[in-house]
Amino acid sequence: NGPILEVHDLKVTFRTENGSVPAVDGIDFAVAPGQTLAIVGESGSGKSVSSSAVMGLLPSNADVTGEVLLDGRELNGLPNDELRKIRGNDIAMVFQDALSALNPYYSVGWQVAEAYRLHHDVSKKVARSRAVEMLDKVGIPDAARRADSYPHEFSGGMRQRVVIAMALVNDPRVLIADEPTTALDVTVQAQIMRLLDDVQDEFGTALILISHDLGVVAEVADDVLVMYAGRAAERGTVRDLFFRAAHPYSLGLLGAMPRVDVPPKPRLTTIPGTPPTPGSITTGCPFQPRCAYTHLVGERCITERPELTPRPGEGDHEAACHLGRRPEVIL
Ligand code: SF4
Ligand code: MG
Repeated sequence: NGPILEVHDLKVTFRTENGSVPAVDGIDFAVAPGQTLAIVGESGSGKSVSSSAVMGLLPSNADVTGEVLLDGRELNGLPNDELRKIRGNDIAMVFQDALSALNPYYSVGWQVAEAYRLHHDVSKKVARSRAVEMLDKVGIPDAARRADSYPHEFSGGMRQRVVIAMALVNDPRVLIADEPTTALDVTVQAQIMRLLDDVQDEFGTALILISHDLGVVAEVADDVLVMYAGRAAERGTVRDLFFRAAHPYSLGLLGAMPRVDVPPKPRLTTIPGTPPTPGSITTGCPFQPRCAYTHLVGERCITERPELTPRPGEGDHEAACHLGRRPEVIL
């Protein structure tokens, strides 16, 4: 079961009036059919920029280098009309904000049908019945009737279901979901994640889930890529991350994860400090200014940039940290 989407050494730099601003500084990831890859990190870590780069959706002042292979076909550098055939068809995307993804002036059924007609030469009638079928599939009750409703007539959770129906209507092979539940309340979040998981099982879709919510990641992901300042801090299976986290940043994120099985602390633990802009730390480890373990390593944290390195005896688990041992073993 080889990967359907592979990204190699992806770099994204924005050209601005103040010079070039790096956002993603060489990351690799891959996802296979039916698999879920979670990309986690704080805002500004480059996780959303990476997925927009995959979709060819970055503004024209973005320079993208590296390989983006869909089933072996290079997407980076394809002309826009070629990319348009792929976007929404082979690769679809669900964003956080369902309202901005929907047009307020058209019924949801019409919008899902049009998304289908964009990639299929069918009559409006056929597209409409496909739309109703998809709305039903994502759990819109009484879909044939509700198809004629407008976005504002739906709750936030139902609107996100509509957006998911629209994303899935062309049976994409890769679905990128960027914080798909962040705007929703907790119960609805769980329902939407279960829906994504179900449709993934049914269609064998490869799912890339971009999230800062490790609770969600623990539930649905197979593999995890932790990004920090535009680089990979750690990557491995979901079990690697939750049971054998090796990077101090990942440990910080885990410490910051709210838990349902323990009473909430008065305040969530957070990692002190803020992330540097990607590329601003050119020597040494980008996490160094915030790292609580750097004294265990010393100078190297400042002078030498850590590269992703396999964890001995842990399969494909890799971390970019000079600390050879697992931090909690030392503490
Ligand atoms: Fe911390 Fe050093 Fe590891 Fe970076 S390389 S995460 S500064 S211990
Ligand atoms: Mg799944």
